[in-house]
Amino acid sequence: MSQVRRLIIMASGCSISSNPMSFKHGLSLWCPQSSPSLHRTLRSSPSSSIGFKTFFRNHVVAASSSSFANENREYVIVGGGNAAGYAARSFVEHGMADGRLCIVTREAYAPYERPALTKGYLFPLDKNPARLPGFHTCVGSGGERQTPDWYKEKGIEMLYEDPVTGIDIEKQTATTISGKLLKYGTLIVATGCSASRFPEKIGGNLPGVHYIRDVADADSLISSLEKARKLVIVGGGYIGMEVAAAAVAWKLDTTIIFPENHLMKRLFTPSLAQKYEELYQENGVKFIKGASIKNLEASSDGHVAAVKLENGSTVEADTVIIGIGAKPAVGPFERLGLNNSVGGIQVDGQFRTGIPGIFAIGDVAAFPLKMYNRMARVEHVDHARRSAQHCVKSLLTAHTSSYDYLPYFYSRVFEYEGSPRKIWWQFFGDNVGETIQVGNFDPKIATFWIDSGKLKGVLLESGSPEEFQLLPELAKRQPIVDKSKLQSASSVEEALEIARTSLQAAV
Ligand SMILES: Cc1cc2nc3c(=O)[nH]c(=O)nc-3n(C[C@H](O)[C@H](O)[C@H](O)COP(=O)(O)OP(=O)(O)OC[C@H]3O[C@@H](n4cnc5c(N)ncnc54)[C@H](O)[C@@H]3O)c2cc1C
Repeated sequence: MSQVRRLIIMASGCSISSNPMSFKHGLSLWCPQSSPSLHRTLRSSPSSSIGFKTFFRNHVVAASSSSFANENREYVIVGGGNAAGYAARSFVEHGMADGRLCIVTREAYAPYERPALTKGYLFPLDKNPARLPGFHTCVGSGGERQTPDWYKEKGIEMLYEDPVTGIDIEKQTATTISGKLLKYGTLIVATGCSASRFPEKIGGNLPGVHYIRDVADADSLISSLEKARKLVIVGGGYIGMEVAAAAVAWKLDTTIIFPENHLMKRLFTPSLAQKYEELYQENGVKFIKGASIKNLEASSDGHVAAVKLENGSTVEADTVIIGIGAKPAVGPFERLGLNNSVGGIQVDGQFRTGIPGIFAIGDVAAFPLKMYNRMARVEHVDHARRSAQHCVKSLLTAHTSSYDYLPYFYSRVFEYEGSPRKIWWQFFGDNVGETIQVGNFDPKIATFWIDSGKLKGVLLESGSPEEFQLLPELAKRQPIVDKSKLQSASSVEEALEIARTSLQAAV
């Protein structure tokens, strides 16, 4: 009996089983795909002139049910965003992508670095805006640009514009909106978040009202910005700050409205926020703080024309951007088990949900934040990348350590040519305890969070690469710092040196 024939018989004789040898946590659909020894045999077989992938396509997969729409069934990732792109890279690095991995996504594009959408993507058209394929993952971390051709070359099956609408945990299948039935051995949910919206009844769907989560949203916004004169941004968080900075380049009459008393309330201290607000104001951006929106009003042609506040006042607008946060896209995955306190799909330190063979990564995952001993859901790209890599490594190797994430947030704005000032801040750690601010924003500023004498978090604006490099070390090691010394530091450089010295003292 030829080797190939023997293998086909083996394949058809296998039932769905878990194979601890090949994937510790995943479920395998077919013995051959889960058997490293088989891979070795096929790859090295001198008698076989056909490739490994072709073999599976033509024989093993065909020998199983043909009623499934995906050819690659061993690993299926739902969602094609940041986490999916980095997970794909990890599968490739482990030699486990070709003919095995399928990515099914709502979007029309291969995974890309989503933060670009409110940064380079929104530069005015004469200022060299970022466009795909320029920012496909994994360029954001200095990696290869994974264009649609990259996925083809690596044997990764991509199903575009076809969101998953349901899963059958018992049968290990997923259905898509177009009616496709997909089979999976291991499922990784990487559906991210969707932008929180204003209800339709208060004008949340009027023409000229925008939300920004994906390329399609950003393109629609750009077509409005081209005609816009009066822009209102609702929300004083990341999206609000980043879009307002872009609007300065578009020379629009821009107002930011938010209910809190300062920008970036969840992270910035009032005095730090003030520095940024002053910069925006110097560039013509207006703020209405402590205000809530009653409704968005339309003109006679049905297009948004004004924003009405609860206090009765009205702000004219021909374009409105709502940046009021995002919700985890748990859609058809609620059965996997949601976390009540932080939302999202509950996972353990290896991104395993409560259902064997199903994982969740990125924005949608509620995971144990080991350092601070609490559950967390992190909507930032650094976590999307790291969670993807950690999950795939745990899945495919003997790696068993729990994810140990150090929270890291950043933003970069005003980076277009001719900008009044480039802004680039990074934050590492936990923003708890009292704060010490050093520097006057000209040219730098730093804020240190200190709790029980320990340095817990640091934010630095406009640091040098070496200075930024110090931040994660400080936040991770949490040295005891001399508060009075830090308070009396005459510059950011001096303050960072004091913090660095406290690290040495801790050794
Ligand atoms: C405009 C913007 C700017 C940002 N800027 C920053 C920043 O400056 N710094 C920072 O750290 N973070 C930033 N973020 C956050 C960062 O982009 C996210 O944390 C990161 O993209 C999360 O990766 P993810 O893969 O979990 O989700 P996403 O990248 O959102 O990808 C999820 C994908 O799943 C798809 N999907 C959803 N449901 C389904 C379904 N049922 N079936 C199939 N596909 C589905 C979505 O369409 C999307 O393609 C920004 C986010 C946005 C929207």
